[in-house]
Amino acid sequence: VAIGEIDSTIGVDAPAFPLVARRMEGGTLSITCGAPPGVTWGSDTFVVIAGPCAVESAEQTMTTAQAVQRLGAHCLRGGAFKPRTSPYSFRGLGRQGLDLLVRARAVTGLPVVTEVLNVQDVELVAGSADMLQIGARNMQNHSLLEEVGRSGRPVLLKRGPSATIEEWLLSAEYIANQGNDQIVLCERGIRTFETSTRYTLDLSAVPVVRSRSRLPIIVDPSHAAGRAGLVAPLARAALAAGADGIMIEVHCSPGDALSDAEQALGIEQFAELMSDLVRMAPLLGRTV
Ligand code: PEP
Ligand code: MN
Repeated sequence: VAIGEIDSTIGVDAPAFPLVARRMEGGTLSITCGAPPGVTWGSDTFVVIAGPCAVESAEQTMTTAQAVQRLGAHCLRGGAFKPRTSPYSFRGLGRQGLDLLVRARAVTGLPVVTEVLNVQDVELVAGSADMLQIGARNMQNHSLLEEVGRSGRPVLLKRGPSATIEEWLLSAEYIANQGNDQIVLCERGIRTFETSTRYTLDLSAVPVVRSRSRLPIIVDPSHAAGRAGLVAPLARAALAAGADGIMIEVHCSPGDALSDAEQALGIEQFAELMSDLVRMAPLLGRTV
């Protein structure tokens, strides 16, 4: 089976979102981040972004970054500005967190993906990050989408927990409309009636987006599952479904994580997942 095979029954959406719709000619866009040659989505590489939910300290960031780099991750994630459901939860180290990410990049060579929460911070975050993450809660924050569109930085656009695929693609169109089509989509689970997982991972979004959009799509099984034990099977399923990569929360000491501790993989668990992916990828025409 060819990866990225298109379901031709879905048809062409060009009128609704002309900039990000799949076109008759040309496949999935290649999106690159980091210093050349950089990391590219929309290629044969199954790109793995890994790191802690939040940047917590110099030691936690560096230890985790070095471990995921050694195990084959392509990019480092970590939130310096954290969107939290409660205002009393740990909301990140802000500027200082960005500095720790920059230091981790200098040591590991991994490009940095980190979230920007609001319009005022886009310039600041773009000054440190290689890729700007728009979190699920901000998927329809149109002024923020336009601002990251103007920043010229590659953007990781997460799907809103209650957004349809069409709404998500229209949000991508807001970014592209400002002259920036360097966008990677990220499925991270949607709200359903099911309570045994934090969200319900909508894996069908992978082939649907593939058919409807020229943008690469990755999967975040960590936020969808909400529990570490579910992350590896969902990550393997993302590869099998044809995703261009995954984003995984990894912590050097998961029990001590200041946010999303239950879903963080420890280093050993991440090592096992990477070795599974490396073995599976060739069957799917990919390398990890
Ligand atoms: C994250 O990836 O750091 C995050 C907050 O995820 P989401 O926006 O999908 O909830
Ligand atoms: Mn998290």
